[in-house]
Amino acid sequence: MEKIAYLDNAASSPMRPEALEAMFAHAKEHYANPSAIHALGQAARKALEKSRCYVAALIGADASEVVFTSGATEANNLALRGAIEPLLDAGKSVHAVTTALEHASVLKTFEALEKRGLAVTVVQPGQDGLVRAEDVLDAVRPDTALVSVIAASNEIGTLQPFEAIGKGLKRLSDAPIFHVDAVQAVVSAEIDMRSSAADLFTISAHKIGGPKGVGALGVRKGVKLAPVLTGGGHEGGLRSGTENASGIAGFGAAASALRARRSQEIERYRALRARLVSALPSGAKPLIADGTPAAPHILSIACDGKENDWIVLLLSRAGVMAAAGSACKSGSREASSVIRALGLDDARARSVIRASFGHASDEKDVDALVDALGTALRR
Ligand code: PMP
Repeated sequence: MEKIAYLDNAASSPMRPEALEAMFAHAKEHYANPSAIHALGQAARKALEKSRCYVAALIGADASEVVFTSGATEANNLALRGAIEPLLDAGKSVHAVTTALEHASVLKTFEALEKRGLAVTVVQPGQDGLVRAEDVLDAVRPDTALVSVIAASNEIGTLQPFEAIGKGLKRLSDAPIFHVDAVQAVVSAEIDMRSSAADLFTISAHKIGGPKGVGALGVRKGVKLAPVLTGGGHEGGLRSGTENASGIAGFGAAASALRARRSQEIERYRALRARLVSALPSGAKPLIADGTPAAPHILSIACDGKENDWIVLLLSRAGVMAAAGSACKSGSREASSVIRALGLDDARARSVIRASFGHASDEKDVDALVDALGTALRR
């Protein structure tokens, strides 16, 4: 096969060289259990705590506020279940607010909690792919315990008004807990826990050039959460189980590299995006209008009445890797609920493909996509 043009970084990005190195070196050297009290265990613990500091620095948190998990799905489960389940267990009437743009790990978890008695208000976005901060704030009631908002949509890239929501919530006398799923936003926006006034903040290693199977939940000091995984009391009692220490070493190195280079990477994503938009072949149009606040590494493209699965397979044959909606729902033939929430009919919703850039993307990748998409749309 010719050179691969990898444009599916929102599903998973290649590992940054420093993350690979850190992970490999850690696995080789620090094989002891980081909870062991002997010297090798302590050395493994020290390496783990160093990674925790790198992740904390990326998300604007104190190291003591970082809980490592097996990924963002688990971090989102911990945020939602950890905040809500103790209240339901105590027999309280509990309400939460979220948006129709959330990742399945949030929406499905809320659905499960609804079966246990939680009331949930799902705020709809406008056709521009943005929820309004006022709509989220207006949905808050006296019994609202949690507000959960995705910062940048993994499917369409739009950046939600998380800062305005965070500030608005903090003005309330009995403010609900504010959870931000920042998995995609941290890649290409200057967002952190403080700027968003988040109490809980989710990120994932494999979206930022680290390994799969590692993530973190930032938990602001003083926020009360119950663990989902109980056991030996690791991670401050919030997530039992021996830490994925070498994965965490890769995560820490990726977080540190992203923090050092994010502003340059954002500039590059903007340039790549502009190049792609200006060269899109006839029949292909950006789904989200220019000028809408959006994470520059994600571009959704509507392909004039063609099926997105078919386009993605044709692109793949030409060596170009893009996505039809979210990889997290692979196998589903239904149009994405996120894209349908923008008011598109089923056929148009099923014509949307997603190109997403990462730290290793360049102009050649964009040009390969433009060529292959032109050929596919002419068929
Ligand atoms: N939230 C968002 C916004 C995501 O994009 C993803 C991954 N597609 C997740 C959560 C889940 O991440 P993980 O693969 O680490 O479980």
